Amino acid sequence: MSKKFYITTPIYYVNDVPHIGHAYTTIAADVAARYKRLGGHDVFFLTGTDEHGQKVQQAAIEAGKSPQDHVDSLYIRFKELWQKLNISHTDFIRTTEPRHKKVVQEILQDLHDRGEIYKDSYEGWYCMPDERFWTEKDLVDGNCPECGRKVEKIKEYNYFFKMGQHQDWLIEQIQSNEKFILPASRRNEVLGFLQKPLEDLCISRPKERLSWGIPLPFDDDYVTYVWFDALINYISVHGSLADVRASGYWPACHHLIGKDILTTHAVYWSTMLKAMDLAVPDNIFAHGWWTVNGQKMSKSLRNVVEPNLLIEQFGVDVIRYFLLREVPFGLDGDFSHKALIGRINSDLANNLGNLVNRTLNMLGKYFKGIVPQPDAAGDEDALLKKKCSEVVGEVDKLFDELAFSKILMKIWELLDTSNQYINNTAPWNLAKSEEGKKRLATVMYNSAEAVRVIGILISPFMPETGDKIMAQLGIDTPVNQQGLDSLKQWGWIKAETQTHQGAQIFPRIDDPAAAKLLASIETGSEPEKTEPPEQITIEDVMKLDLRTAKILEAEKVKKSKKLIKLKVDLGNEQRQVLAGIAETYEPEQLIGRTVILVANLKPAKLMGLESQGMILAGSSGKKIVLAGFDEALDLGARVK
Ligand SMILES: [Zn+2]
Repeated sequence: MSKKFYITTPIYYVNDVPHIGHAYTTIAADVAARYKRLGGHDVFFLTGTDEHGQKVQQAAIEAGKSPQDHVDSLYIRFKELWQKLNISHTDFIRTTEPRHKKVVQEILQDLHDRGEIYKDSYEGWYCMPDERFWTEKDLVDGNCPECGRKVEKIKEYNYFFKMGQHQDWLIEQIQSNEKFILPASRRNEVLGFLQKPLEDLCISRPKERLSWGIPLPFDDDYVTYVWFDALINYISVHGSLADVRASGYWPACHHLIGKDILTTHAVYWSTMLKAMDLAVPDNIFAHGWWTVNGQKMSKSLRNVVEPNLLIEQFGVDVIRYFLLREVPFGLDGDFSHKALIGRINSDLANNLGNLVNRTLNMLGKYFKGIVPQPDAAGDEDALLKKKCSEVVGEVDKLFDELAFSKILMKIWELLDTSNQYINNTAPWNLAKSEEGKKRLATVMYNSAEAVRVIGILISPFMPETGDKIMAQLGIDTPVNQQGLDSLKQWGWIKAETQTHQGAQIFPRIDDPAAAKLLASIETGSEPEKTEPPEQITIEDVMKLDLRTAKILEAEKVKKSKKLIKLKVDLGNEQRQVLAGIAETYEPEQLIGRTVILVANLKPAKLMGLESQGMILAGSSGKKIVLAGFDEALDLGARVK
């Protein structure tokens, strides 16, 4: 039987507009869930919305709606965003659903019956928006210490959960298990909090003050405190307490939360579980917060990094990758569009995209796109395979710690090794001789297999990209069916597989496009529309002296990413021309091609080298294709 893996996000407060913080937690949980599925685990991944409480009731009144209508119209924003972000949750729970309310009441009744809940009078300062009581000494300048708003003095009877009696047990739990609360700084924070005496928890609100909640089963004048209700979602999704025990999903492997709700999870929830006689989760992981361009999140900054907008601007996989790569999970991070574009160009376009592209390109050129049968392996091959198995092993370990950015760095090490493998084995040289061709087959087979391994490893982070890579490799077996098992032994991809080279999976955002994008983000305007092109006459066209030319030599210009130095033959003369095509073409692909040269262009110097003309090419996005002819023409022929 496959091992069970249960991971949760918090249930998000339904009144909140979904923002990058919600997206971050949910993407992180999704990546872990997808990875465990790859490993053959039986995964349960839960998210949902928290729909009770004072603030919801208040907002519904203001909107002139019933609280239920109000929440029904709001929770969908989360559901839709998760769909756009490719979130693969197993269930989406809402605390207003009957299945949840039933379990909350069952637990309350059980705890009440067993004397874990009692009634007492209580007097204190109450912060309405935060729905919590404060003692006199908690107050800051007479206001709520949490939100700074006014508090009211309230005296009333309420029900209390005997939380305080579990203090020693909780401290022992935390101290004896290093992974229970992560990161370590958060664990210390909770232990610090527990140095003060732990009081009992008020778990009811009188209906006369707040009616939008789950009624206490043993006293109809009260509803349940919103946190006591909400936390139970983690088990109510599996049914009654007996169902939860039988489900095999409890205790949860990971509760992912933001650091602002650490106390409610580490202290309230743990002691509630103790009272219910259920185990605590294996791990509560509290991640950090995002600033934007170094500034604390405000409403306007939130709009700039609104998740739906970001997906539209950059694509879903880019956002998923960036959020988990940029900042170690657990620390605070800064979001900037500049950093995002930097990652697209360096990590995704130049590294990942280029590896996929050049591999498929050479398979096409040397083997008609068919993965060749490998021949005997040599030292270079052994190094690549060794790196691969090392990375696969380390990624697995790092997933236990949810160290997402380290995992991505590991995978990128394999990318570097694979790119290096191609550079060292130089397929373009092997292709020149008959004896080299046997070796070439091995090199191209291994390169294709490396691309497959990378495609599988990145698929939890970038599911669409993983699928695209498989499609280009011509592999029909879905990523999940290949699974982590297919990475344990080198050589899963079959020789004779027909590959299908497609478009670049991550087009580079060039400098002018990036500048435009950044400017439009700064001003909040749409990127400016370009003017319709000016019309020209036939005389203008005839000013261009276009000639056919054959490429005799091609080499990359040192220290330039884009430039290739060409020697071209026009029939009666030879010229040196520089072309910015190095990101699409390998120099060896160019030799022998007939191209179109702008022959009367004034010579110019690029990187200190003279360019005597310009080669015509078309481009869309990052893709560049040289203009040419479908039949041979004399060199130097005029093109009109
Ligand atoms: Zn407050």
